[in-house]
Amino acid sequence: MSAQQTLEFQAETRQLMDLMIHSIYSQKEIFLRELISNASDAIDKRKFLGLTDKSITQADENSIRIEIDKATRRLTISDTGIGMSHAEVVEHIGTIAKSGTKEILDQMKKSGEAQSTADLIGQFGVGFYSAFMVADKITLVTRRANEEKATRWVSSGAGTYTIEETDAAKIGTSITLDLKPADKENGLPDFTDEFEIESVVKKYSDFIAYPIIMKKEVHKPVKVDEGEKKDGENETKMETTIEDTTLNSMKPIWTRAKSDVKDEEYNEFYKHVSHDWEDPLKVIHYRAEGRIEYQALLYLPKRAPFDLYYTSFKAGLQLYVKKVLILERAEELLPRYLRFVKGVVESADLPLNISREILQQDRHIQAVRKGLTTKIISELATLMEKERDKYADFYREFGPAIKEGASTDYENKEKLSGLLLFASSNDAEKPTSLKEYIGRMKADQKEIYYLAGESRLTLENSPHTESLRAKGYEILYLVDAYDEIVLQNIGTFDDKKFKSAAKGDLDLADEKEKKKDEEKVKEAEKTMGALLGALKEQLKDDVKEVKFSSVLVSAPSRLVGEEFDVSPYLAKVLSRNGEKVPPMKKTLEINAEHNLVKKIFAIYDKNPTTEELADFSQLLYGQAVIADGGEIANVAKFNKAIVTIAQKALP
Ligand code: ADP
Ligand code: MG
Repeated sequence: MSAQQTLEFQAETRQLMDLMIHSIYSQKEIFLRELISNASDAIDKRKFLGLTDKSITQADENSIRIEIDKATRRLTISDTGIGMSHAEVVEHIGTIAKSGTKEILDQMKKSGEAQSTADLIGQFGVGFYSAFMVADKITLVTRRANEEKATRWVSSGAGTYTIEETDAAKIGTSITLDLKPADKENGLPDFTDEFEIESVVKKYSDFIAYPIIMKKEVHKPVKVDEGEKKDGENETKMETTIEDTTLNSMKPIWTRAKSDVKDEEYNEFYKHVSHDWEDPLKVIHYRAEGRIEYQALLYLPKRAPFDLYYTSFKAGLQLYVKKVLILERAEELLPRYLRFVKGVVESADLPLNISREILQQDRHIQAVRKGLTTKIISELATLMEKERDKYADFYREFGPAIKEGASTDYENKEKLSGLLLFASSNDAEKPTSLKEYIGRMKADQKEIYYLAGESRLTLENSPHTESLRAKGYEILYLVDAYDEIVLQNIGTFDDKKFKSAAKGDLDLADEKEKKKDEEKVKEAEKTMGALLGALKEQLKDDVKEVKFSSVLVSAPSRLVGEEFDVSPYLAKVLSRNGEKVPPMKKTLEINAEHNLVKKIFAIYDKNPTTEELADFSQLLYGQAVIADGGEIANVAKFNKAIVTIAQKALP
């Protein structure tokens, strides 16, 4: 037998444990939910690993047992689950592998006093470690289902734990807590009280699929022996015995009628399946009947896990067949972009020993997947319509997933596009949906206008949006650079095309105005045409074309791209992410009515060979690049031009 080792907790774990030990969290009772949830997970795991691995033996009967020892103030929770090997104990209990722990701790450091640790515990949770809120010593004895030896782990929380091999006992895990003294005032009821334990189990763990058993006083009538019976006494008397009692109803929530399930029950079940500590944002519970039959209990979380958008993110719903959990994470039940949805699907129409390969091709699974997808999308549409603020919260967290869907799920493209939200010129606070935008379109407006840029402020002051806004057209402000790609992928919404305000040929509606504009341009070409040629010569390496435009209002010039050019903003973001974006030459549009342009023309007209033209062209081009959100390639040249011009202009 190997000797006892004393090991140190990893720094992050120590920090979290400290937090637990000194916690002022008012609901310390949730430690029991966490330990029971772990026990239930462990039994699930033993069962389904056993399906494919014969070395994983099965228990005759699965249960989670709670034992109370009032004299020593000890509480033991034991299970018939998979158990842990020595290495697994070190890995799972000695360290916190939970993704995001570091992020949580960083956030805690940042928030300092402002956010109480209680809030943070409520949001993130720490599973097993929550037991340190109620215990000053924890002893864990565990034996894995395919091993002979067991492991004993003990910690009093002070930075270290001991671990040793032992000849224990049965397969499974038992966790003994040396309870702190009860202190009701500070949220620490007496957990050696059976009633307390029973009510906590009922409150948080009623749905657990295995019996949660505790010895409890049971009062029942017993027949009195004839011999003992005295005159006038009843046939029966009440007797108190101590018996094993199952505390939970074990009824799977998803099989119950919606009207029967309380919100709290939905929420507790959510925390169990998702390992989230917060209530969900929305519950979707329904039964599909007809050609394909299944029950689904799905949840939209409040917050996106920090790794949701990493390729390593593990998605999937629990899949039950005839009340047996056959897959912990059935990814095939939902398209990848809906990976944030948590929950359970049960269907009787699948074989119990279904493999992943079969799952991918199974027609029934495909039909369930289609049904679930349609349902989730329609629930989101309802949320958007009926509870807009809640939907906005959802979108803030999961918008990128919806965008992914709108771009990739061709079958549901239109519906998913309807779920997108954009900042717009219509309302500085409230983002708009495409449907709402279309509802506000002018009678003769054919396209949906957008412009991509770093911030709302830049976009509002861009020469590209000026004329559109002056004419009363609404513009979507794409401050998320990838929205531009999303719109390109979608192509149309409600048969309307998307049009960037930075592309030259905006088909602005009014025919009369159009004519007037064309005439203005013609007039400018007639009087100042020579200047265009000269500017073109100066900027031949930088721009494709130089021309007059009547679209500009207060800016002297702007750069416009072609139909499929990416915006400078997106180009910047892409190249920051290491993607190659080929440089694009654009057209420089000149505002002939602008005072600066008029002055330049006057100087040029007097002396067409003036050296000053080089600086003027730099000025007209450079400020257009900046306004477009691009980067000036030759900053030194641009700066020199500005300084030279300013020096001459100042008295
Ligand atoms: P989570 O349940 O979210 O993974 P916990 O802190 O509750 O986080 O548990 C950490 C890990 O410890 C579990 O993932 C599991 O591997 C292991 N574990 C905890 N309790 C048990 C148990 N009763 N039986 C087997 N393994 C357990
Ligand atoms: Mg847990």
